[in-house]
Amino acid sequence: MQRNNGILPPNTIGIIGGGQLGRMMAIAAKYMGYRIAVLDPTVDCPTAQVADHSIVGAYNDMEAIKKLAEISDVITYEFENVDLQAAAFLEQQGKLPQGAYALEVTQNREKEKTVMQELGLPVAPFAIVRSAEECEQVLRHFSLPAVIKTCSGGYDGKGQLKIEDTSQFAAACAFAEEHRHSIIEQWVPFDKEVSVIFTRSQTGEITFFPLAENEHRKHILYQTSVPATIPKIVESRAMKAVEKLAHHMNIVGTFAVELFVQADSIYMNEMAPRPHNSGHYTIEACTVSQFMQHIRAICQLPLLEVSLLQSAIMVNILGKDLEGVVQLLPKTPTGFVHLYGKKATKPNRKMGHITFIGDTIENVQQQMKTFWEAK
Ligand code: AMP
Repeated sequence: MQRNNGILPPNTIGIIGGGQLGRMMAIAAKYMGYRIAVLDPTVDCPTAQVADHSIVGAYNDMEAIKKLAEISDVITYEFENVDLQAAAFLEQQGKLPQGAYALEVTQNREKEKTVMQELGLPVAPFAIVRSAEECEQVLRHFSLPAVIKTCSGGYDGKGQLKIEDTSQFAAACAFAEEHRHSIIEQWVPFDKEVSVIFTRSQTGEITFFPLAENEHRKHILYQTSVPATIPKIVESRAMKAVEKLAHHMNIVGTFAVELFVQADSIYMNEMAPRPHNSGHYTIEACTVSQFMQHIRAICQLPLLEVSLLQSAIMVNILGKDLEGVVQLLPKTPTGFVHLYGKKATKPNRKMGHITFIGDTIENVQQQMKTFWEAK
């Protein structure tokens, strides 16, 4: 029997979606000598700037998807909202090793929570509602505070509403009526938010990145620090739960699960079937980055051993901070600055990130201080 050697450089990797995640995947693949094709509706998008071929088209444009498949030896994606028909087509062509199932689940909060619940994994109590009346019935018996979220299409806190007390029932019911398919979840008064990022190969091996501790501001990830300061028992519980999910869903590639930690308990919140913002620190702080390990998994190369080389803090650069950071660059000797090359700047748009690394977290914090205080 002929041994399958996988997809080797200089074969072409196609990426659906041309934002920062696609760009960082492409850069990792370029280190290894691969060629890159990208499909995105925007001309000169962040990934196109580092790619060999750029197809400008909508994600659900089947002609554009077929063109991408023609020039690519293997295809991946940088976000979960890939058109499911396109994903199924690519899977049938043998070009999408990640498959369509992980997308189908992660595009839909109902399916996401149901899969986790059926596996016996810890999730906050939830209910699905499809109208104002259903919402009202559920809320009558639901303990507050709670949160109502759209089942599809929400991100960075968009498409959700916190329900603190009964005075907000009317707003919640209006939300349910407007969005037609929503999930009501119990609010978890968490101590910490962490993410578990791992990579799974096509033959079922898994490598975990160190758990990352996340701080959100206004629903957008503000900063990630590693190692996470959580008890060992919580860490091992989180990893066991995520491993069970990974094997059950037959995940391929880099994948992230966000969890809430409350004392010694964990609650699984969201999954992302791709590299994650809270894993950007791995570029400088780990033996292999989440992006390179992803490329290795989809190309059937053995996964590299992962270890943390240094403590790290990653801070996102939003549009409102971009100009200030650029002005600091010539003045400061600390911080690994990544800018994504996005043409349009909006106040809360993720335009880049900075990673600080050091022997201890105190040293990392000192470097951050030096960066921001540079004159
Ligand atoms: P999500 O879009 O589900 O990731 O939610 C965005 C952010 O809202 C999370 O990172 C949390 O900070 C907060 N959040 C969402 N759901 C809950 C919940 N059930 N309990 C507490 N905080 C939540």
